[in-house]
Amino acid sequence: GDLSFPKIGLDICTRCRRCTVECPFGAIDEDKDDYPLVNPTRCRRCGTCMGACPVRTISFDNYNIQMISEMINAVEVPDEFEEKPRILVLACENDACPAIDMAGIKRAQYSAHVRIIPVRCLGSVSMLWVSDALSRGFDGIMLMGCKSGDDYQCHFVKGSGIAEERMANIGETLESMMLERERVTSAEVSIADSGSVAKVLDDFVAKLGELDPNPFKGF
Ligand code: SF4
Ligand code: SF4
Repeated sequence: GDLSFPKIGLDICTRCRRCTVECPFGAIDEDKDDYPLVNPTRCRRCGTCMGACPVRTISFDNYNIQMISEMINAVEVPDEFEEKPRILVLACENDACPAIDMAGIKRAQYSAHVRIIPVRCLGSVSMLWVSDALSRGFDGIMLMGCKSGDDYQCHFVKGSGIAEERMANIGETLESMMLERERVTSAEVSIADSGSVAKVLDDFVAKLGELDPNPFKGF
């Protein structure tokens, strides 16, 4: 795995403190000029700071905003004449991905229109990925991660919860793009949910089927 700690490009850092506030482990201090300073003895490399940064100036050696953006851009999105939807799932590599893999081993079938990209933790998901995918014509996006709340199962304590909070803001993005709120959703799965994960995906695909194709297709 990637053992690097987050690198913060201070040249464009606005000292907004989002990374400090959202870090689940209190691993970001501030230097004398109020710039963020990662404390490697506390950092667990969850990537939540990366997902939080509004100017996208936080990265890891093998995990960064651009890398996932390129993976999203590499997914083929059928045009509006093909009448095939394309659904993006950003899945937490800790629980959601193993549950999906296990479903595959058990030969559970789910919609062939789904494309899955693993992420380190849902806390690391940048809303830029979501808005970019929508403007590329993806019909729906699901963030699939661990259980949040008091009985959380998130390996990084509050990554799923933070993603939920950020999801609330995506409503404004959808509205500004004149897209339906139902196009972006989240799902909580545990590693033991391999029996139900295919249904979770298919239910979302069916719900999207009630909407028209994303009008951004082909642009
Ligand atoms: S990677 Fe996670 S633990 Fe480390 S500084 Fe960023 S938010 Fe905190
Ligand atoms: S979230 Fe980004 S811009 Fe804000 S303080 Fe942290 S590194 Fe700087």
